Amino acid sequence: MPELPEVETVVRLIAPRIAGRTITRAVLRPRSLYRTGSLPVAALAGGRVERVERLGKAIVVRMSGTRRGADVLVFHLGMTGRLVDRTVAKDARSAGAVRAPRHRHGRFVFDDGNELWYVDPRRFGYVFVGPAEALRARLHIGPDPFEVTPRELAARLGGRRSPIKALLLDQRIVSGIGNIYPDEILHRAKIHPARAGDSVADRAADLLRAARAVLTRAIRHRGTTLRDYRTPDGRSGGFQDLLRVYGREGQRCPRCGAGVRRIVLAGRGTHFCARCQRPPRAQRG
Ligand SMILES: [Zn+2]
Repeated sequence: MPELPEVETVVRLIAPRIAGRTITRAVLRPRSLYRTGSLPVAALAGGRVERVERLGKAIVVRMSGTRRGADVLVFHLGMTGRLVDRTVAKDARSAGAVRAPRHRHGRFVFDDGNELWYVDPRRFGYVFVGPAEALRARLHIGPDPFEVTPRELAARLGGRRSPIKALLLDQRIVSGIGNIYPDEILHRAKIHPARAGDSVADRAADLLRAARAVLTRAIRHRGTTLRDYRTPDGRSGGFQDLLRVYGREGQRCPRCGAGVRRIVLAGRGTHFCARCQRPPRAQRG
């Protein structure tokens, strides 16, 4: 699942390639890929890309000159979604036409001949075209770890009894974090993933510092590729080699040498070091 570092990598790659360009044609099918309330992508034709931004785990393309109410084009990559830049794909093959990848559901053609393709085998992602105002509320995207302050995060965790791991996955509380990075962040902050949100509120500053450090490092390595994720130019991420606990069950904690354990929390495989990350009081003894 693409999380903040992967999506940020995609944004940085496509922004210079499509900013200032005009969309001449846009197609998306099936209709089930549209987020509820979206206008059809055809509403973007003739519009110009002003800029590309990341909002949580969503890619937001801000447009001008489009049909009324079609100010933004949003891609949420879901589990297996990805954007492919046709020109780069072509360069990589050096000659001839590029064959459309399987599961290409979206096609956005630009005035310079370039195309952006939306590919999504499992189709858990979505595309949204609509007005720019109240976009966060409409898409349920809270502030990401680079936007939220320690005090705000503490307030968001206060009074919550759910495990901190589950709260970190809730995009309304803090956005951008999915399967892999919560485990890495909690390990770095030395916080057990099963601790109640309320009991961690007073450590919001540590948690945020850990989150920013892990995510910044992951962005620098173009994200993590375990299975599907590729950058728009077809490369893999590099952070999978630097994971400290995620997917490392039974291996040694790189900090203290104890064994990395795996439990299921909030329906997700959750990895932690039982020595560095002390369990909640109720579970001790
Ligand atoms: Zn440890």
